[in-house]
Amino acid sequence: MARPSQTESWGHSTVRTACPLDCPDSCSLDVTVERGRVVKIDGADANPSTRKFICAKVRRFGERLYGEDRLLYPAVRQGAKGSGTFVRVTWNEALDAIAQRMIAIRDTIGAEGILPFCYGGSNGLLTQDTTDAQLFRAFGTSRLARTVCAAPTGAANGALYGKMPGVTYEDYLHARLIVLWGVNPSASGIHLVPFIKEARSRGAMLVVVDPRATSLARQADLHLAPRPGTDLPLALSIHKYLFDRGLAAAAFLDEHARGVEGLRARAEEWSIPRAAKTCEIDAADLDRFASLYASSSPAVIRCGWGLERNRNGGSAAAAVMALPAIAGKFGVRGGGFSMSNSAALGIKSAAWMDDTPEPATRLVNMNHLGRALLDYDDPPVQMLFVYNCNPLATMPDQNRVLRGLQRENLFTVVYEQVFTDTCRYADVVLPATTFLENYDVAKGYGPISLQLVRPVVERAGEARPNAEVFSELAGRLGVGEQEEEIDTLFRVVGRFPNGLGTDLMEQGIVQPPYGGVPVQFVDVFPRTPDNKIDLYPAALVDHTRDRLYLYQPDPETDQYPLALISPASEKTVSSTLGELRERAAMLQMHPTDASARQLSTGDPVRVFNDLGEVQCPVALNADIKPGTVSLPKGLWRRSTYNGSTANALAPDSLTDLGDGACFNDARVQVALLGRH
Ligand code: SF4
Repeated sequence: MARPSQTESWGHSTVRTACPLDCPDSCSLDVTVERGRVVKIDGADANPSTRKFICAKVRRFGERLYGEDRLLYPAVRQGAKGSGTFVRVTWNEALDAIAQRMIAIRDTIGAEGILPFCYGGSNGLLTQDTTDAQLFRAFGTSRLARTVCAAPTGAANGALYGKMPGVTYEDYLHARLIVLWGVNPSASGIHLVPFIKEARSRGAMLVVVDPRATSLARQADLHLAPRPGTDLPLALSIHKYLFDRGLAAAAFLDEHARGVEGLRARAEEWSIPRAAKTCEIDAADLDRFASLYASSSPAVIRCGWGLERNRNGGSAAAAVMALPAIAGKFGVRGGGFSMSNSAALGIKSAAWMDDTPEPATRLVNMNHLGRALLDYDDPPVQMLFVYNCNPLATMPDQNRVLRGLQRENLFTVVYEQVFTDTCRYADVVLPATTFLENYDVAKGYGPISLQLVRPVVERAGEARPNAEVFSELAGRLGVGEQEEEIDTLFRVVGRFPNGLGTDLMEQGIVQPPYGGVPVQFVDVFPRTPDNKIDLYPAALVDHTRDRLYLYQPDPETDQYPLALISPASEKTVSSTLGELRERAAMLQMHPTDASARQLSTGDPVRVFNDLGEVQCPVALNADIKPGTVSLPKGLWRRSTYNGSTANALAPDSLTDLGDGACFNDARVQVALLGRH
């Protein structure tokens, strides 16, 4: 396997690389460099699915690279916790301080008093689950359940289909009916949009299920705007429609599925009128949706992550993904469902992590970070090591997380690219490289792709890549060998299956199997033990204590009747790039709800419940469902008047499957700021 030559990358005006950020699309990029600085980031044609265009977010990535928030040197806290005052130190001093503290904790209360905390901030295969995981495993720290996103849909997809690859963007061109359910491709996964538009120009119908009239919803043939958290009864009512009318695909189900009766029994109680009432939608619209879905082929459902962020999220995702099975939509190009394609290439971090087995140490659900910092005492968390993550901006129950981070006896390390909200509460800050300064491997989870990410410019200041820093720390702690980043790259790709690593290093991109466009139940089949769809999996029944597909009612109260959602926006990738947001975020509210509270656009408001309060301006917006209000996902604290974001109002309760986050179960009241 040939090593990439440095001269291939350096000194050229345009460098080919790829975007590893937490986005399904994994764009190939051409980055223009002049005099050692990035001057332009644009799409390249290496990944055909991304069609040479990229999002406005990453076009602006140079502003993060060279912005005033960029971390350039290691530093240690000087003033009071949270004051944001730090003094520069050397890498040796910073790593020595961290190593000494880790050893002291291990020798007093045990290494489980250390909690590593990371999540997808740079979603490549090198920046997470390599030398970092080896270090923390070998040292015996607490483990982190990374469940803030995709855990419920992942649990459902895994149990029903064994994460069978889904319909890829190109095949939407063949669909006669496209359903976007809990997803807004105009904000995330943008490369699906042109395929939808082209399919529509060829006559495909479009149905959108979303509490907001997104731009695609406004163009759709049918838009259903259910109350957040009610996707489960909506999906079950379509199942009942299919069963009651003899439209279930009996022969297909006999051959390819089990658990049909369990699902059918749970769907039985959801007639169209009852579901419509619960979802707060028109029964005639729901009936039309069911009829359209039953009669259209090929029909594809893009199952999004929006529908999982509530108490019913896992069952809802399972019920939605079960629809093409019951309705017999598989076996044709453009028919079936799309969820995450992250497992499509069969690459698992276990391949390179097997040398350092995972110990059975304490497992902390990341959605319970606040509780872990404040309440856990067996042992207490005395060190928090944050990387690839900005938990103060991204975890639920923000005020509890904040109180935890403010603990004087908590030693917090934050290893980051820019000075995030979480950095402010650190004891030691370490500067990390960005994907334009380090190697990585980008794995798409929309289009099936695997691409090499290469450094296009010198590292800023003293920023260093994850692989190097964690291996150096492991060396200091006596639990590993120091390793250069390039060696970690070769070690990881050397363990990819089916020669993928060689192809990646030689070509910079791997040609996906099935030409990148598998047809479900022709090219790919469920990866369950018997290769059948399991519509009522015993593991999920056990996990939910026999409540799989059972609807849990709305958590609204008379005091807090409004459902607050926090969907992905066009401005950030989760919270990444949130520092570039220029104006205060606005609460989106339907004019009817605003009128009842005598509010006008631009009024400063309090959005509040028992967990906290967000102060920001309100914007009247008829595109949002009455009874629902919205703030963007991933806001930094600077984007509101009082430094709280939607996450301050989100409970840290867990979803029915996958122990995921219930952001959309936030129920709130809104009032003019100053009025009670
Ligand atoms: S965030 Fe997504 S759309 Fe934007 S450049 Fe990266 S992969 Fe492409």
